[in-house]
Amino acid sequence: MKKFAIAIHGGAGTILRSQMSDDKEKQYKSALEEAVHNSYEILFHDGTALDAVEQAVVILEDCPLFNAGKGSVFTHEGRHEMDASIMDGLRKDGGAVSLLRNIKNPIKLARLVLERSEHVLLAGEGAEIFAKEQGIEFADPEYFYDELRHNQLLSALSSNKVILDHTEIDPKKFGTVGAVALDKNGNLAAATSTGGMTNKKWGRIGDTPILGAGTYANNESCAVSCTGSGEYFIRSVAAFNIHSLMIYARMNLSDACYKVIHEILPSIGGDGGLIAIDKHGNFCLDFNTEGMYRAFLSSHDQKIIGIYK
Ligand code: ASP
Repeated sequence: MKKFAIAIHGGAGTILRSQMSDDKEKQYKSALEEAVHNSYEILFHDGTALDAVEQAVVILEDCPLFNAGKGSVFTHEGRHEMDASIMDGLRKDGGAVSLLRNIKNPIKLARLVLERSEHVLLAGEGAEIFAKEQGIEFADPEYFYDELRHNQLLSALSSNKVILDHTEIDPKKFGTVGAVALDKNGNLAAATSTGGMTNKKWGRIGDTPILGAGTYANNESCAVSCTGSGEYFIRSVAAFNIHSLMIYARMNLSDACYKVIHEILPSIGGDGGLIAIDKHGNFCLDFNTEGMYRAFLSSHDQKIIGIYK
């Protein structure tokens, strides 16, 4: 059988076993299981990598444990502004959305930008007009309200800091979400979705909706989805850098990922992680933080569900 594979992440950060209750750990693992199995089924039944990554991200966006969709963190103004992107390695084309306030599943809108617009990135009000035209589901601000997230904002406001969803204030709730997949036809795809950083303002946009920074897919090399301090992932063009190291420096996937995560990002102060799959189905789930919610399932390898180092 031709190899197919799916990898997902639910964010990287200061995720310590000592700060995690058994019950919370179970909840995280079962959310990761559900997402990775659902996408595996799509691939098993000859579905596309693009459908598989979208579906995994939708499931994680609907889960309040992760910082995307329903579980998105609060901005400085006490709102939610979500970013997402998806990329098709076959067409080398993508769709991305940014600064969304009221869209239930940002990744679905990103997919529609890819499929039904002539653009790559739509933001804010314009993106919501496009969403209405496409009949996308909206959600009220109450849908995104979460008390713990709100406490994270209050704490960030009092310390005047913009914080990653990786803080001691609430060590149990982390995570931008993402997925990468290889389907039976050898096509690769990547998708990422986030609420960004707590207490962000001025229309701050991270790496997630930027193709090449937080998300990248190209059938000639790999599919990548990143999580971490977005500014650093943008500055090091993290996802595209992995592709470039493979194509131009002829590195294999794991060496290319190692270089970006453990050398290039730390050299400018960046922390986080990423998941990647290459065109042969080799995979990498790597991070330079304490942990990263992650899972992997393929036609040929053992399942992986991981949280800590
Ligand atoms: N990369 C995301 C951002 O900077 C945050 C995260 O991964 O948690 O918006």
